[in-house]
Amino acid sequence: MTPLRTPFDNSYSRLPEHFYSRQAPARVPNPRLIRVNAALAEELGVDVEWLASPEGVAVWAGNVVPEGAEPIAQAYAGHQYGGWVPQLGDGRAILLGEVVDAKGRRRDIQLKGSGQTVFSRAGDGKAALGPVLREYLVSEAMTALGVPSTRALAAVTTGEEVYRETPLPGAVFTRVAASHIRVGTFQYFAAREDTEALRTLADHVIARHYPECAQAESPTLALLEAVIAAQADLVARWLALGFIHGVMNTDNVAISGETIDYGPCAFMDNFHPQCVFSAIDRNARYAWGNQPTICQWNLTRFAETLLPLLAEDADAAIALAEGALSGFGGRFQSRYLAGFRAKLGLPGKDGAEFIEATLRTLAEQEVDFTLFFRHLTRIAAGENAEALVALFAKADAAESWLADWRKVADPVGQRDAMRAANPILIPRNHRIEQAIQGALGGDFAPFHRLVDALATPYTENPEYSDLELAPLPHERVRRTFCGT
Ligand code: AMP
Ligand code: MG
Repeated sequence: MTPLRTPFDNSYSRLPEHFYSRQAPARVPNPRLIRVNAALAEELGVDVEWLASPEGVAVWAGNVVPEGAEPIAQAYAGHQYGGWVPQLGDGRAILLGEVVDAKGRRRDIQLKGSGQTVFSRAGDGKAALGPVLREYLVSEAMTALGVPSTRALAAVTTGEEVYRETPLPGAVFTRVAASHIRVGTFQYFAAREDTEALRTLADHVIARHYPECAQAESPTLALLEAVIAAQADLVARWLALGFIHGVMNTDNVAISGETIDYGPCAFMDNFHPQCVFSAIDRNARYAWGNQPTICQWNLTRFAETLLPLLAEDADAAIALAEGALSGFGGRFQSRYLAGFRAKLGLPGKDGAEFIEATLRTLAEQEVDFTLFFRHLTRIAAGENAEALVALFAKADAAESWLADWRKVADPVGQRDAMRAANPILIPRNHRIEQAIQGALGGDFAPFHRLVDALATPYTENPEYSDLELAPLPHERVRRTFCGT
């Protein structure tokens, strides 16, 4: 059977040899399918029946390289927690190749966890089951929530153990992305003063992600502006959902504007702007409320890499880069405010003060972020305020907030906007944890149920009402781990 109705067309592996290293995936002893994503396969032109067949599973496990694939590990560098690392690269990921999907979009198909590459350093290049399930769940949930994201095509267990603190079941994750080109990819060449490679990479990215920039007077400047806009929009979306990426290092920022590299990411339960889950983010660098500032910091690192392409004169190049970067704040702020106006049902273009006051109240009152907006949407639909009031530590704080809200909101006129902005379901940390624990014990049912439920996060579905609930005290997850 032909696995791919659309053949591979591997534009990245046609770039110069020093952009990557050719590397076949490692073989694994006993691959078993966890889940495949039939809807995504359909989009990509992957035969849906073949997808879950033993031949398909052998591909998703890395045991068979499909026809037309040209497996490579991509080179990149990056700033990790603010510290410069001149070489990172795909240490536990192998890009099989690219396909052009039914809508004409080029997509990478990558195996994550399929063995060592030249970039693995001391790592084993493998992935453990838990992080694979987490990435599957969260990346698909993000997509269904309407946030640009890499996708999950398949997950398999390998039949071998990987050693972290303890032995864990090994797994391989098949990731689909617009591309895996990162801010760190540009940094890799900039640090080596390889201007020719930077030019080649910028041209590749413009053709692939931002073709309209090719017509601009300065395509490089247009590219910088486009990436700044995409990242500003992305982080505004994250904030509106209470999402904390957890590892916003420059190697984890995709030039395409997709959310990438789901490690110790989390959706917060109770709102707090300084909320952090990642066990290794000791200084709370990547807290919920720091994400816009960090995004701008990352974009500044991106702009620096483009300086040699922006203008021959160094001062002129810096002026252009600074001009573009100065647009970030306004762009982010307008998207952020629009997002929260929709969540709160505020008409018009104002509301900044009320939004900030609301967030202060939510933090003081230790209110569950998602349930707050869920119940507010119900109030807009004519229900009483009891459930919302019950979320607050003090009922009178809730009553006084509601009185203020009624003065500024237009619940009737904005009801549909509120519904579209306020998900009923998010992948709550404790549910992800339960799904992982179930799977580690051999029961994948909670994982499958969670993936199914999160496919329609804005739809009322009584069957999944338990998944809306905040964690009980003993279920609460306070720390998340990279697990690599
Ligand atoms: P991350 O923070 O997960 O995005 O990974 C940072 C860097 O560490 C990347 O270069 C990864 O390829 C590498 N890395 C992470 N886990 C492993 C592993 N198990 N084996 C080899 N390299 C890894
Ligand atoms: Mg990464």
